[in-house]
Amino acid sequence: MTIRTRFAPSPTGFIHLGNLRSALYPWAFARHHQGEFILRIEDTDQERSTLEAVEVILEGMHWLGLDPDEGPIYQMQRLNRYQLVIQDMLKNGLAYPCYMSEADLNALRDAQIANKEKPRYNGLWRPEHGKILPEPPVGVSPVIRFKNPLEGSVAWQDAVKGLIEIRNDELDDLVIARTDGTPTYNFCVVVDDMDMNITHVIRGDDHVNNTPRQINIMRALGGTPPVYAHLPTVLNDTGEKMSKRNGAMSVRDYQKAGYLPEAILNYLARLGWAHGDAEVFTKEQFVAWFELEHLGRSPAQHNPEKLLWLNHHYIQQADTKYLSELVRPFAEERGIDIHRGPNFEQVVGLLKDRANTLLEIADGAKLFYMPAPQHSAEQIVAHIPEAIKPALNDLRRAIEGCESSKEAYAAAIKAVLVQHQIKMPALAMPLRYALFATTQTPAIDAVMALMGWEACTERLNLVLS
Ligand code: GLU
Repeated sequence: MTIRTRFAPSPTGFIHLGNLRSALYPWAFARHHQGEFILRIEDTDQERSTLEAVEVILEGMHWLGLDPDEGPIYQMQRLNRYQLVIQDMLKNGLAYPCYMSEADLNALRDAQIANKEKPRYNGLWRPEHGKILPEPPVGVSPVIRFKNPLEGSVAWQDAVKGLIEIRNDELDDLVIARTDGTPTYNFCVVVDDMDMNITHVIRGDDHVNNTPRQINIMRALGGTPPVYAHLPTVLNDTGEKMSKRNGAMSVRDYQKAGYLPEAILNYLARLGWAHGDAEVFTKEQFVAWFELEHLGRSPAQHNPEKLLWLNHHYIQQADTKYLSELVRPFAEERGIDIHRGPNFEQVVGLLKDRANTLLEIADGAKLFYMPAPQHSAEQIVAHIPEAIKPALNDLRRAIEGCESSKEAYAAAIKAVLVQHQIKMPALAMPLRYALFATTQTPAIDAVMALMGWEACTERLNLVLS
């Protein structure tokens, strides 16, 4: 049997990080078993579905490398198929037209609530052997209801939650098509999961109440229900359900903030699943380790610091060439012209150890590509004491023709410190200021090596007469 999983998002709004976990797990499960992963866009809610949301989903999945084997398959393009199944169900007595008006349904519901009963459809139009149905009202289009079994129960062994059993008398006859003929959500899911031969449904536990209904419809259609794994919710860092309202970010936001897809993937993987105490692992390891048995049973909590830490880790580990390609668009966005300054890859190499995001690297890189500072006379007086000028002067001489290595510049600086009997900060502060008009830079010897002796000398000339 080929394992087939799916991600079936509704493109009806904001897609946050937690939502994409419902893509990652079925993807990993399919890959682990050399199975197939299908992307299905559940867009039948035409009022709320947007193309923008579809794009965010496709883009986010692609960015994380969760490419589907089939799809995207859009439900709106399968309406004919749903109609055919509904017609068949009517023909076979699995479903029936119900003419109860909205007003009557509401009255029924109010009466049930007043009686302290659970509100539910009363089966008025449900055909039974020997039962005489009311005369269909003229000019009224019916909804179509599924004939849910009246007795017994529906049970499944949920891969996360264990055995779940619901009595059929708890479930009323679900509307599968509206008065205008459009199929309803739970029904389309069943037809699709059957047609697409889905073997494992891994999804958020906000769908756990739909499952008994879906299983009943699937069995009525002659299908075998898949394995279900309902994932506990993702909570935000303050313990509320993650949502846009309380500050959740979309995958696109993380991309823009300079996160690496590797970090996001690693982070998401641990948001409700564990492999021993492994915290940092590759995509390949994740796929090799991913099994449903190790899905967590309690809600996972979003931890932005941990994500940032992972991002730092992946930045540090990343190949510098690859990293510089990723930083380049961020640098361009900041107006940095990487051709007017030192080798960009080397700059990224110098900055990557301390950076948490690509954006931080780009910000740090600015220093190297700004034009030489134009200090005013007052600024020079304020930041470059007369007493240090002889040392700066000697340094200027010492670096002439200096080889572009951190060590060579460190040696030149050391010699000047010794010669003038001064400490590093006494020289480094005015030196940084002279070169960059700031006192904050990475290690000055490394920075100077990247700038090259000509550029450094040119800048020193501006403050030394
Ligand atoms: N379309 C549903 C959602 O976005 C998921 C349905 C499913 O996975 O069965 O919540």
